[in-house]
Amino acid sequence: MKYDVVVIGSGPGGYVGAIRAAQLGMKVAIIEKYKTLGGTCLNVGCIPSKALLDSSEHYHNAVEKFAEHGLETSSVKINMKQMIKRKNDVVDQTCKGVEFLMKKNNIDVFYGVGSFITKNVIAIDGLEGRKEIETEKVIIATGSKPITPEIFNYDKNRVITSTEALNIEKVPAKMVIVGGGVIGLELGSVFARLGTSVDVVEYMDRILPGMDVECGKELMRSLKKLGMNFYLGHGVIGVKSTKTSCTVTVRKNNKEEQFEIKADYCLVAIGRKPYTDGLNLSAVGIQSDDKGRIEVNSHLETNVPGIFAIGDVVRGAMLAHKAEEEGILVAEFLSGGKPHINYNLIPGVVYTWPEVSAVGKTEDELKTLDIPYKSGKFPFKALGRARASMDTEGMVKVLAHKDTDEILGVHMVGPRVADVIMEAVALMEFRASAEDMSRISHPHPTYTEAVKEAALAASGNRALHM
Ligand code: FAD
Ligand code: NAD
Repeated sequence: MKYDVVVIGSGPGGYVGAIRAAQLGMKVAIIEKYKTLGGTCLNVGCIPSKALLDSSEHYHNAVEKFAEHGLETSSVKINMKQMIKRKNDVVDQTCKGVEFLMKKNNIDVFYGVGSFITKNVIAIDGLEGRKEIETEKVIIATGSKPITPEIFNYDKNRVITSTEALNIEKVPAKMVIVGGGVIGLELGSVFARLGTSVDVVEYMDRILPGMDVECGKELMRSLKKLGMNFYLGHGVIGVKSTKTSCTVTVRKNNKEEQFEIKADYCLVAIGRKPYTDGLNLSAVGIQSDDKGRIEVNSHLETNVPGIFAIGDVVRGAMLAHKAEEEGILVAEFLSGGKPHINYNLIPGVVYTWPEVSAVGKTEDELKTLDIPYKSGKFPFKALGRARASMDTEGMVKVLAHKDTDEILGVHMVGPRVADVIMEAVALMEFRASAEDMSRISHPHPTYTEAVKEAALAASGNRALHM
């Protein structure tokens, strides 16, 4: 049988693209080299990290906040094995859900490494040997892997990446995290909440480079209160490990000063790189850029007609929802549609507490682009809902065009802002103004009122509760 589409890789890009193609009437196969579907996101990324973030937050609140709420506990103990088991159960259910969706949509699933023989023939090397399948079109959705330069001596035991960190079954006394980006701060929060002494070594002079500077500063204040320690403007120049510990050598940028930190673990979280190993791209002549990303045009087709690539393996934010939209775009393009993705409106979220979220342009970007803008801010400490839940850290910032009042960017740090950001995304999709945002009735008391107030502040300094 010849397939209409073969998808290589079953992460959120691949499996969602496969479902959409099947919905549109195509005969689809999906190939996954691991024994479970769902890719990085479901197996070792978004889902397990959020499961541990939730568990550790419950513990932290029980120890640090319950008493003030008038709740007395005799003792709250950490059972790390159970925490990891629950996380694994969540992952299991979620991956099985994808398997179910493949069946429901009549998508054939092949387990094994997919590689090109020709542009229309794909080999699958699995446990039962080699199979070959024929297809009209191919979608490459092979995702990414952590960057682990040799100087870190990544041994998967004491020098680890997020993949191993998600399975630590004993709370470590000390952890060094290289990289103050999303993974470093999310997993750093998990361990800091459980009582680990966490040092973050970040090359830049700020955490979360690329996001709003003020949000980064606010978050760093909160994470310091949690006990996390930051070496900004520092780099790791080497790591040595034994069976039970590691020693990390840290150097201040452009200075001779260096020092060592001994820790149970060194977590390397300095970014991820596109993964194309084993695909045999050269057999079909697919071009990649200098960062190893497969090159694609505006409808995500590679230089080889009929072969598409989506998600972490191509340019753009390495985010599950971006990969999903790209999977949908390719499927709809293949069935003759003219789909479009507004990359400016792909929201970004950091699941620390307080959470951080953003959509659109940052102030730095607006300055670089020479776009005149005005800004309105509202702090959560002035909000009744936030006081009720004792979550008063953070703020919402609305950036709007100085002349037209169109919302250009919204940046938040605070309680549940991972969810609150969707209001901004929806309004910006319809090119609303700050005035529009400020005139919408927001339910009281909710965290969303901070958005209304920040919009009021942006459209003429009219915040009501400040
Ligand atoms: P992937 O999910 O990486 O899937 C690629 C799949 O292809 C894998 O299953 C792989 O085994 C398979 N594969 C590779 N080569 C072959 C081959 N030759 N043959 C067959 N199969 C192959 N993003 C968010 O939006 N929100 C989050 O909260 C979030 N949290 C994260 C937390 C962590 C710890 C990490 C590491 C990442 C997180 N991400 C998050 C990022 C998110 O996981 C990725 O952006 C997303 O998974 C990319 O999807 P994808 O489909 O492109 O690739
Ligand atoms: P990142 O790009 O978010 O952060 C890496 C950080 O490491 C940066 O701050 C960078 O300046 C720093 N760095 C780089 N080299 C360094 C060095 N040698 N020494 C010290 N610091 C160094 O990357 P990440 O945290 O590894 O995450 C990888 C990807 O996974 C991200 O692109 C992100 O989009 C995705 N992810 C998303 C979520 C989410 O959406 N909540 C969660 C986790 C991961």
